[in-house]
Amino acid sequence: MAGAVYSLLVPLLSGHLHSQPVSGTSQPPIGPYETLPAPYEEWDPRTVEVAKRVAEMVNERRPDIVVDHIGSSAVPGLAGKNVVDLAVEIDPTEVPAFAELLTELGFHTTTGARAFPPTRPLLVGSLEHDGRPFRIHFHVHPRGHRVFGREHARDLAFRDALRSDAGLRDDYERRKRAIVNAGVKDSMRYSMAKTEWIRAALEHIGVADPPILPPATIGILGGGQLGRMLGLAARALGYRIVALDPDPACPAAAIADEVVVGRYDDVDAALRMADKADVLTYELEHVALGMVQRLDWDWPVRPNVITLAATQDRLEERRFVASEGVGVAPWRDVRDVEELRGATREVGLPLRLKAAHGGYDGRSQVRVADGVDLLTAFERLGRPAGEAILAERELDFEAELSIICARGIDGRPVTFPVARNRHDNGILVESVTPAGVSAEVEERARELVVTLAEGLDLVGTLTAELFLMPDGELLVNELAPRVHNSGHWSIEGCVTSQFEQHIRAITNLPLGDPSLRVGGAATVNLLGTGEERASRPRGVEGALAAPDVHVHLYDKRRVFERRKMGHVTALGATPDEALERARAAAVLIGWED
Ligand code: ADP
Ligand code: MG
Repeated sequence: MAGAVYSLLVPLLSGHLHSQPVSGTSQPPIGPYETLPAPYEEWDPRTVEVAKRVAEMVNERRPDIVVDHIGSSAVPGLAGKNVVDLAVEIDPTEVPAFAELLTELGFHTTTGARAFPPTRPLLVGSLEHDGRPFRIHFHVHPRGHRVFGREHARDLAFRDALRSDAGLRDDYERRKRAIVNAGVKDSMRYSMAKTEWIRAALEHIGVADPPILPPATIGILGGGQLGRMLGLAARALGYRIVALDPDPACPAAAIADEVVVGRYDDVDAALRMADKADVLTYELEHVALGMVQRLDWDWPVRPNVITLAATQDRLEERRFVASEGVGVAPWRDVRDVEELRGATREVGLPLRLKAAHGGYDGRSQVRVADGVDLLTAFERLGRPAGEAILAERELDFEAELSIICARGIDGRPVTFPVARNRHDNGILVESVTPAGVSAEVEERARELVVTLAEGLDLVGTLTAELFLMPDGELLVNELAPRVHNSGHWSIEGCVTSQFEQHIRAITNLPLGDPSLRVGGAATVNLLGTGEERASRPRGVEGALAAPDVHVHLYDKRRVFERRKMGHVTALGATPDEALERARAAAVLIGWED
């Protein structure tokens, strides 16, 4: 059956969808796009007719433009969603006008964090044909663009390979069916789940993205200690570094070729920094989303904007994690005392009130226990009236764990061993691995972080902070779209460190082996003490006298109470031995008065 249909359509499919103009109508011919749960059906030959009709509409206005039918609906016999994907490749200067033309036909651009950048828009719409609406994606590819310049050729090559290679087509169909059978309904999630297969196929066809090789320049938003350690790993590989930071003497300054001084919402400064970079990443999630969206128009931003949006807002993060079927503590979003009162009844006391934006190291959160005045709690948080705040049940957990997943452009995830962490008043004090949990818990942590990374189509590293509950359940506390303090032991403890892994992921190099080289590795943070003053460490010689102890200082110019100034990592035959050594070394280090 499919074979007969295919042969009938070969003439139609063989060329571009170039055709004779038809007379126009005054109503926009393209209708609204409905986001439906991904249906999965046999290939519908009418999709080709829809593609042809839309191409005719475009060619009536722009006879010079070639409209290509791409994607699964352009491959006869390939089951799927029967969404019609169309694409054009045009000069970047023509993109706005062409998008406008599509808008006049009735197409819409998508909005929100998942929207495509205006330099490479995706417009959506639908066309009524033969009694049913067909959904349409219209891709506009800017020719020669540094990020998107290869997409058009790649999409055509992928389509042609699927058309000509029945084995590849069957394999793709099996993969899609498996995703649907696994219960994936959301269409975004469906697309994400296919990534790994598609990337492998592109490699097979020979059109995969090339790596960004040294001496390319990596641009880092943020120049704190994480940026410094990322930069050191990148330097070792021969990359160059530019960073954006408000402080010209930030920890990354010493290892960067240049620090562009600017706040994390300074678009002009960010563009000046990006101009020198080949790929962009961030060492903190508290950077202005709008600024990063602007960078995403013209540079590869890794991890992507979706990841940043989902992890910089605690409420969005809870929603995303829950949408992936992963557990979190009972929570509500509350805007005022009345709603908080409701939340205390529904989720119970004690609870934690956490600002949706901007908190770190335990800042921007207030504990609400029995007898605490709710208005005072709200006031102590100090957020503008009416802002949505996270109210979350305080958990009586067994332990705090974390796991870091790195994922490359090919979609293959690599996870580090689980760490067990201890916090003091919200700030990490020590982290040790192996975490001393069962193999089953370790595996569930792994599956969970991989699911979350896949759901974000992450490229880079993602850390999940977890609560291990007394009954063995794992709940997500928070996500960080980056390397993490609880993975610093990976520098000396693992075959490949979290920092090198992140650099490899964002430059599209193969990921390294994350396994532990030793029986145990532990990191103890070096926190500042006392009044704010110039920082001069003491005790470093004593700390280094012990075996397998490694001291990292971040060269922060000023020290103050609880500021993260450095860390000590120690290795040992067991996690306990490593932790003992790291603690013994860390207590020797302090700050001159
Ligand atoms: P931050 O962004 O400051 O790291 P977190 O939400 O991770 O904020 O909170 C910091 C620490 O506070 C956690 O690591 C944990 O020790 C404690 N904490 C946070 N939320 C809860 C909770 N719901 N129940 C118990 N402890 C919590
Ligand atoms: Mg945290």
